[in-house]
Amino acid sequence: MSKLLTQLIDELNHGTIKVVDLTQPLGVDTPVIGLPPIFGASPGFSTHVISKYDEKGPGWYWSVITLGEHTGTHFDAPIHWITGKDLPENALDTIPVRKLVGPACVIDCSKETAANPDFLLTVDFVKRWETTHGMIPAGAWLLLRTDWSHRTNPVDFLNVLADGAHSPGFHADCSRFLARERNVLGVGVETVGTDAGQAGGFTPPFPNHTLMHGAGKFGLASLRNLDQLPATGSIVIASPLKIVAGSGSPCRVLALVG
Ligand code: MN
Repeated sequence: MSKLLTQLIDELNHGTIKVVDLTQPLGVDTPVIGLPPIFGASPGFSTHVISKYDEKGPGWYWSVITLGEHTGTHFDAPIHWITGKDLPENALDTIPVRKLVGPACVIDCSKETAANPDFLLTVDFVKRWETTHGMIPAGAWLLLRTDWSHRTNPVDFLNVLADGAHSPGFHADCSRFLARERNVLGVGVETVGTDAGQAGGFTPPFPNHTLMHGAGKFGLASLRNLDQLPATGSIVIASPLKIVAGSGSPCRVLALVG
């Protein structure tokens, strides 16, 4: 083993490097994004037992699960969006595995989101962050910390009012900047999807999905524990299921912090 990997294991064993779980529990109570009824709906998570140490299987327990690809803490591949449908290596089974590990930059917008649930990250906000923390390196995850995951009640989490959902996200110019000027690996959020709640009415609609996936970038949604990460210096491991031609998958997202 290389000296670096030996040191990594030593530091994990000593706790000087910690593993932080950025994943929500996945179960029947996991909230799923709602779309207008003209569009197809994604089912939530359901499970039924095949056997549980009983006549169907005296020594073993297992279940069948049903869920949409984009349920709970999950990974969005470029093929998820029409803008990314013809890109190379755009689906879960073709994304190079090297891209499943990358450094993270965490932008804390928790105060702004507390004051305004429709908060949108702007290019100016990112550039101000960079004056303190340095330029976002190419190939980094940009994680939007909003503390939205503290809304543990699904009604508060989805925050759907008479005029649709209200939750934070990205200004279109910011998604374009992050994809093209910073060449990020993708963006990760604490909300149900990587676009703001009101983004269906933006120009273009759902600009973060449109621009990120059109540029071959990824998304992570429904993250938690971003408040346990430093602004820079952590490494994120986001490894979705290798679904053939898959557009997304629930994902155990881990961060190494030390
Ligand atoms: Mn998704």
